[in-house]
Amino acid sequence: MEFNHLRGMGDIVDKSRKVLIAGAGGFIGGALVSSLRKQGYSDLRAVDVKPLEEWYQSFPDVENLRLDLNLKENCEAAMEGAADVYNLAANMGGMGFIENNKALCMLSVLINTHLLQASLKHGVERFFFSSSACVYNADKQKTFEAPSLKEEDAYPAQAEDGYGWEKLFSERMCRHFSEDFGLYTRVARFHNVYGPWGTWTGGREKAPAAICRKVIAAKVSGSHEIEIWGSGEQTRSFMFIDDCIKGVRLIMDSDIKEPINLGSREAVTVNQLVDIVQEIAGVKLKCKYDLSAPRGVNGRNSDNTLIQRHLSWEPNTPLRVGMEKTYRWIYDQYVAQMRGDTSEAKESLIAR
Ligand code: NAD
Repeated sequence: MEFNHLRGMGDIVDKSRKVLIAGAGGFIGGALVSSLRKQGYSDLRAVDVKPLEEWYQSFPDVENLRLDLNLKENCEAAMEGAADVYNLAANMGGMGFIENNKALCMLSVLINTHLLQASLKHGVERFFFSSSACVYNADKQKTFEAPSLKEEDAYPAQAEDGYGWEKLFSERMCRHFSEDFGLYTRVARFHNVYGPWGTWTGGREKAPAAICRKVIAAKVSGSHEIEIWGSGEQTRSFMFIDDCIKGVRLIMDSDIKEPINLGSREAVTVNQLVDIVQEIAGVKLKCKYDLSAPRGVNGRNSDNTLIQRHLSWEPNTPLRVGMEKTYRWIYDQYVAQMRGDTSEAKESLIAR
């Protein structure tokens, strides 16, 4: 049993309650399962559509289920007996994926909608939805000076086409399930999450992992050049996975009823991110810029006024520290894959 000061009402969180983690085979879902286990939660149900052997992290003492949560009946089966639900399941990826798969991204609306409906039916106590900084109005992200986005900047709505609109709609669905049906919902807008045990190759990876892989590939192959998407002047902030998990747990346990930013406010340009990775790798490479590649908005940062006001905390792992851990992990994956692969596969791994 844990006394929870943040809820401020003397609530006791029972760690034997059943917790459902949707999208547990993915990057953030896997890290959340790992963290809840460490905190002593003893009845975890982890669900993902991927085969178990493809999950980034899985644990034998957790109930691991392979279910397609687009389907209502599967959401109901997953929900049986659950008290808390964390929805981290979505069909998503980096800019290369979301710009080219808008319909697939929007279909994730089925997952959240069916999970919300099943939550009501099964008397779930608390529901968490993972939204994104991609809900923010594109007009407010035109400059390269990393505008800090406040929660209210999502309106008037002009979200990232496809993926961002689904997130904005699902945020509102959570709000109305709360207002109309009394369901306890919490929503965080993640800003670029990175870290070990996440996607680093295959087309769905995001900038930090992609840059690590490209620098590693250049280092291993002895080539002196890497390709960067866009001009390299785009600005972003990147949140280390440990901060993300801490924030998710704090927000779930809090009285914050509105969607809230969960992101670092250490903004860097993509070029600065590349410099950090080169420094970690101990190489200096020539950057070739692909101006026709997907690159997203020009500038974006997280305004953390609200999270500070509510939690007296914000994501604070320095980018250099988090990237060092991420680089080491991707390096090990890369080398392991090189060892296990055929020579053709090795060539394509270096080329990608
Ligand atoms: P991820 O792709 O690693 O994990 C998502 C998981 O959902 C995958 O394992 C996938 O197989 C699973 N999934 C997809 N469709 C499913 C279905 N029909 N049924 C069951 N499982 C299904 O992504 P992530 O980085 O861990 O992201 C988790 C959540 O956080 C997502 O909602 C994402 O949109 C959101 N988010 C992530 C970031 C980031 O930088 N990683 C930023 C903003 C928001």
